[in-house]
Amino acid sequence: MKHSSENTVTDKSPVQELTDTRGHITGADWLARYSSSVLGVFGAPQRVLVRGSGCLVWDADGKEYLDLLGGIAVNALGHAHPFVTSVISSQLATLGHVSNFFTSPTQIALAEKLLEISHAPAGSRVFFANSGAEAIEAAFKLARRNAGSAATPRTKIIALEGAFHGRTMGALALTAKEAYRAPFAPLPAGVVHIPFGDIEALRAAVDDTTAAVFLEPIQGEAGVRPLPAGYLQAAREATTAAGALLILDEVQTGIGRTGKWLASGDTGIVPDAITLAKGLGGGFPIGALVTFGPVASGLLTAGQHGTTFGGNPVATAAALATLHVLENQHVLARVRAVGEHLRAGLAGIHGVTEVRGEGLLIGFDLDADVAPAVVQAGLDAGFIVNSPGPRTIRLAPPLILSTEQADQFLAALPALLQTAKDAQ
Ligand SMILES: *Cc1c(COP(=O)(O)O)cnc(C)c1O
Repeated sequence: MKHSSENTVTDKSPVQELTDTRGHITGADWLARYSSSVLGVFGAPQRVLVRGSGCLVWDADGKEYLDLLGGIAVNALGHAHPFVTSVISSQLATLGHVSNFFTSPTQIALAEKLLEISHAPAGSRVFFANSGAEAIEAAFKLARRNAGSAATPRTKIIALEGAFHGRTMGALALTAKEAYRAPFAPLPAGVVHIPFGDIEALRAAVDDTTAAVFLEPIQGEAGVRPLPAGYLQAAREATTAAGALLILDEVQTGIGRTGKWLASGDTGIVPDAITLAKGLGGGFPIGALVTFGPVASGLLTAGQHGTTFGGNPVATAAALATLHVLENQHVLARVRAVGEHLRAGLAGIHGVTEVRGEGLLIGFDLDADVAPAVVQAGLDAGFIVNSPGPRTIRLAPPLILSTEQADQFLAALPALLQTAKDAQ
């Protein structure tokens, strides 16, 4: 058999060439090229990042940052984690993609592991996707399949005000923000948004025309807003009584982010499905829908959904490696401890009016509308944080953030707030 060898490993890597230019092509040069080549949906990027290690990243101008956003709750083990990197590399060097006409040991083992950590009952199953929105799309189709009968069709899907479930059309129908939705009307029909955290409004809305209720245990994009105590239990009772599905979107809160495998993990409730994505692959793209029990799992049958890349050997190996490190290095206990330390420190800072969240998903409010200016001051001072609202800062750092690194930020924050206010 003839083997092609047009490209050999001795060729100069096209990627290496780009990073070799560090110091020669400035961040400003790259951003000019970005704006004339990449679609403008994200606005202007804040920096051009070229390298990361642990909780640190470096930009094209060589400046170092402490990453307190973790790629928006994605880089669970920080950047370039050696174990995850080596598992991904060796999987790719062994078997990278097979299509869903086939399966692979890593896909099966990851499905089993997700069922284990979510304490899913017998009959539970996993569908693999490539992103949060795709996991939500699968959940949306699951909800549509809870269709009721011709006499009593279930057409209503309930989501909350402030909800963020993604940007594809089905996920966007569930997302509440009018500015995201309006340009793309009409969206898939039947979704109603009810006031956040209002148990009476929920009970009034869930009826026998309801196919499903979608909830985030903590609304991340809305500024790290936890559901009030008792809300999930009330939602479980109302949906069970009405024959509706309870679907928990743990794309941001799942996989150790709150110091537990799932944010909903200690509530004692069994949902009908959960969605996972952001932290699951330790930075590698992967999403998942876990359906709980045989009834929910039986709603989507052969031929009713699919994906080319979903559940491929490399992505599932990345997730297995991430879960292995989180488990074997007792990361979740540290997430709880460092998170508590950060929240206590933040609460003591002048100008911080409220601190919310669990584990290392933290939101805090300021006494003035200066959050975007704090993000800017943070970048200048070498800290990456995020402002989901005009007076709210969100932190979702790597789960391996150390107490010392948390303290660096706490020590710097008063000056960042002052700089931001001076800039007003
Ligand atoms: C980020 C997010 C999504 C969408 O995930 P993508 O990977 O960006 O498509 C959905 N739900 C929640 C709660 C999220 O935080």
